[in-house]
Amino acid sequence: MIIAVDGPTASGKGTIAKRIAEHFGMAHLDTGLLYRAVGRQVALNEGDPDDPQDALAACDFPDELMQDDILRSEETGGLASRVSVHPDVRQALLERQRAFAQQPGGAVLDGRDIGTVIAPDANVKLFITASVQERARRRWLEMVEKQIDDEEEIPLSEIEKDVVNRDARDINRKDAPLKAAKDAFIIDTTSFDREAAFDMVLDVVKQALEVD
Ligand code: C5P
Repeated sequence: MIIAVDGPTASGKGTIAKRIAEHFGMAHLDTGLLYRAVGRQVALNEGDPDDPQDALAACDFPDELMQDDILRSEETGGLASRVSVHPDVRQALLERQRAFAQQPGGAVLDGRDIGTVIAPDANVKLFITASVQERARRRWLEMVEKQIDDEEEIPLSEIEKDVVNRDARDINRKDAPLKAAKDAFIIDTTSFDREAAFDMVLDVVKQALEVD
């Protein structure tokens, strides 16, 4: 069984996907981390994230990099967004994601193109979204709470600009742009807290799978 969870940056899809996987005892892959690892590896290689060859070379990152907390920083997120526009990068990461999706026992994958490209035959497809302002506010709160970056002082308006830029890059890229699959359930979490959003999504999944 495959559950595909897509949506824009900071929509809460990652937390929701993780909890859905726990609930059903399935494996979970945050596919954004793969792109973040590539972005980080480009920086380590002193390459240019906008250069397709430098970005492709960085797909050969060591597995340990996936555990590095620096992948969760705003800076690495920006690099990930830039390397993810290159078709060769997307192709290089495709098989890894498909193999994960098809494992026995089932899998939940979250990202931008899971329901459209990676697992078009997923049993349930979810597209989790929220307003730009709300997503920026959540990201800002998360940064303040976790103190992920050294730059704790980034103002909310800067985060909002970054969210808008990332949305634009994700939506407008030619290869595997961010969009809801035709058969996805679109869930807007703008006015829900984490708990309420999860409950709402869980209900949708249970109904779709016809389980209690
Ligand atoms: O979800 P997350 O913010 O960790 O993703 C980082 C970047 O990786 C995104 O801005 C997006 O451009 C890219 N990405 C993607 N396809 C995915 C997952 C992430 O293009 N399936």
